Amino acid sequence: MSKVMIVTGASRGIGAATAKLAASKGFAVCVNYKSHAKEAQAVVDEIQNNGGSAIAIKADVTIADEVNHLFTETVKAFGRLDALVNNAGILETQMRLEDMSSERIQRIFNANVFSTIHCIQAAIKFMSIRYKGFGGSIVNVSSVASRLGSPNEYVDYAASKGAIDTLTIGLAKELAMDGIRVNAVRPGYIYTDIHASGGEPNRIERVKQFIPMQRGGTAAEVASAIVWLASDESSYTSGSFIEVAGGN
Ligand code: NAP
Repeated sequence: MSKVMIVTGASRGIGAATAKLAASKGFAVCVNYKSHAKEAQAVVDEIQNNGGSAIAIKADVTIADEVNHLFTETVKAFGRLDALVNNAGILETQMRLEDMSSERIQRIFNANVFSTIHCIQAAIKFMSIRYKGFGGSIVNVSSVASRLGSPNEYVDYAASKGAIDTLTIGLAKELAMDGIRVNAVRPGYIYTDIHASGGEPNRIERVKQFIPMQRGGTAAEVASAIVWLASDESSYTSGSFIEVAGGN
């Protein structure tokens, strides 16, 4: 039986690249999405055309009931759960903290932090050996923003990724004897749609001179690190962070 992975926010960007790479390595993959159904189906079609197994499930991961639906339907379709990639995330228009509305900050923490907590709570019930699971691997998608702070752009986003880092450290210890490893990747500037949500689609062109490698990264380069952490090849690695940021 294939190992089974849920990738949240897999219709586009880093999540889509992760779903495709994981499927090519033998995982049956659940491609979660919130609103871009056509894009999610295209990821599923590409995986299936290459001989892999995938399904798409619509669920807003900020809502606990939808997360439960996502996990229950995945296990119904594939029979088990071995890996969770908490990738779904958002940022909003660049501005200073004093100009941010409390609704916006709530949205950022709902999408980036509470979503991850809901998904990990659901995953424990299916993966932990304490609940008759097979153990597994959780990979959280953080950001170099958690170290750099994103001043004048989105310190709310950076702080939400700081929370992801702390969850990774604590849960790696809490879940070790459940048979669950917990790690994170910290991408730097990666070519995806997310920069348009910040109001600057070409942001990487402006900042790349400050990156030691002087280029942005690709979603596939981030996916490589994520899939390694999700796989048994990293079997003694937990509570670790991989920077995928061109030396930044
Ligand atoms: P993206 O291209 O904007 O894609 C975001 C994905 O998240 C989409 O699939 C979207 O689904 C999904 N999503 C958003 N909110 C959701 C929700 N509430 N429920 C379910 N799915 C949701 O973003 P990306 O650049 O690939 O970013 C992926 C992750 O990497 C994020 O956590 C981001 O913070 C992190 N990251 C990115 C960069 C970068 O430079 N790109 C750098 C550091 C960290 P729909 O398509 O259905 O809307």
